[in-house]
Amino acid sequence: MKVFFRLLNYARPFRHYLPEYILWVIPSIIFGAMNFALLIPLLDVLFKTQELTVQTTLPDFQLSADYLNALFNYFFAEIAQSRGKIAALEFICLTILISVFLANFFRWFAQRVLIRMRTWVVFRLRKAYFEQMTRLDLSFFHHQKKGNLLSIMSTDVQEVESSVVSSMQILFRDPLQVIAYVGLLFIISVKLTVLTLVFFPISVLAIARISKKLRQAANQTQSLLGKILNVTEETLSGIRIIKAFSAERFMQKKFNQENDTYRRVSKSMNNRRELASPLSEFLGVATVIVVLIFGGIMVLNNQSNLTAAQFITYIALYSQIIPPIKNISTAVSTIQRGLVAGERVLKIIDVPVEITEKPEATELAQFSQKIEYQNVSFSYRKDAPTLKNISITLEHGKMVALVGKSGSGKSTTADLLCRFYDVQEGAIFVDNQDIRDVTVESLRAQLGIVTQEPILFHDTVFNNIAFGMENVDEEEVVKAAKIANAHEFIVQMEEGYQTVIGDRGSKLSGGQRQRLSIARAVLKNPSILILDEATSSLDTESERLVQESIQNLMKNRTTLVIAHRLSTIQHADEIIVMEEGEIVERGSHEQLFHQNGIYRKLCDMQSVV
Ligand code: ADP
Repeated sequence: MKVFFRLLNYARPFRHYLPEYILWVIPSIIFGAMNFALLIPLLDVLFKTQELTVQTTLPDFQLSADYLNALFNYFFAEIAQSRGKIAALEFICLTILISVFLANFFRWFAQRVLIRMRTWVVFRLRKAYFEQMTRLDLSFFHHQKKGNLLSIMSTDVQEVESSVVSSMQILFRDPLQVIAYVGLLFIISVKLTVLTLVFFPISVLAIARISKKLRQAANQTQSLLGKILNVTEETLSGIRIIKAFSAERFMQKKFNQENDTYRRVSKSMNNRRELASPLSEFLGVATVIVVLIFGGIMVLNNQSNLTAAQFITYIALYSQIIPPIKNISTAVSTIQRGLVAGERVLKIIDVPVEITEKPEATELAQFSQKIEYQNVSFSYRKDAPTLKNISITLEHGKMVALVGKSGSGKSTTADLLCRFYDVQEGAIFVDNQDIRDVTVESLRAQLGIVTQEPILFHDTVFNNIAFGMENVDEEEVVKAAKIANAHEFIVQMEEGYQTVIGDRGSKLSGGQRQRLSIARAVLKNPSILILDEATSSLDTESERLVQESIQNLMKNRTTLVIAHRLSTIQHADEIIVMEEGEIVERGSHEQLFHQNGIYRKLCDMQSVV
């Protein structure tokens, strides 16, 4: 129940919509019921000759059904007397028409309130979800599949949407409708109503049981859809590799498996769902039949003062009680599904963000002295330490290079400085301030990162360079692009800086992508630079250009380089050799080269002299 109200409150506040909804829904139900009540005089005029007794005076005003009835009869009888039956017929038809119009008019207004509410719920829920996505720590995304997160954003939120609407209807409209109709039934015939209401619980119970079974299967399809999206997402982002490895068949097979599981589960689920409708209709008609028999006998035997017109109206009205009851039972299952889906959304929204700022966190002042890793240890998983007791000092304006086999912990070391993760032992200081004591934003504002895999977005060249910044002059962007050796190829593109570069920059070559991401770093103008050296996968010409732009970028900056090609870091102020999370050698290129250790071996492998 807590989840339910939490979801509704995304319409903020949920209470706000209630009075308005009820305001519209009540007249819509009253006029709806009236339409049926008006059938009695209609049928009387058409089939009966019973004379109407004309009242001479208007009835006294009261706020009751009796008064309305008397008022109607007064006008009706008078018209019938003075102008004949045809006129009376016209009068009833007109009244019915107006009443139907009003009933629907008010219903539409009630629906509008619901629509407003549900669109707000969906809007705010998606907003909260997306904001949470951007806020969450990197570690969260390591064990979450993208497809799953996407499916929560799309299908689960939609599920919540329909359940919100159902909930309002089930809580207010349908019960009121049932009460109003049952009230009318009592007015027409108490005896018959008492008798027939006995059959209600039977059909309601049967319908409720079916919808309960339905719910259990519904959950399954949600997670299955997530799997389908996962495979699709993986395929789309890896389409190059898939083609290169001729793995189309393999991916198709993988997809088909998930797709087929979805088909089977969804088939059996829908079969069950579709069973609910015919079964409940059958049960509904069965109860009406019971009424027909009892009522028919009463009419035929003249046991009650039930007229034929009243009886027909009674049947018509009775059949109208079944749909809202059916609605209530389906709404129960819709709400259940919505709750399950809502819980999935809220579960993500509630994941605590681990990298937090202290309340007393201060802004990091402009970096000017040194970065220090003091006895830092870190592990992704409890049993296997990734970094062990790392101490590094990086003076302002200097360059430190991390080398070592892949998996030795180089990227992790750099990530810790960005506070993508927090150290578990030891500390990292920037200008003698623990990075956990300053605001994350002020820390990251001073950091520039160029990764091995340049991350570009489906947007223009301009926006990719000026990424995350507002009100950037074109001049500055061009200047940054020139420094990054990117200007030339950009102006040769169809629309220059306004060219859209395709999904993740697919329209560009690897070297071009890299130079764009360097231009981005140049524009940001960070004082500390983290380079995950990116030239290893490029051809010689691109490498030269990229290397040159990296040199430009590094000018006057403090740089931490993760080196793959040792030839590029020979002039580093310190080279740190890592192995299995530990520093095994450190010093300048000359020192390490002559030390004949691990570094020398790495150099020999890459033919560095
Ligand atoms: P390098 O940059 O030197 O290749 P990394 O810092 O990327 O090394 O990785 C160091 C170790 O940490 C590796 O054994 C790797 O498998 C592990 N590792 C890296 N990222 C994660 C992660 N998100 N979850 C668990 N283990 C990880």
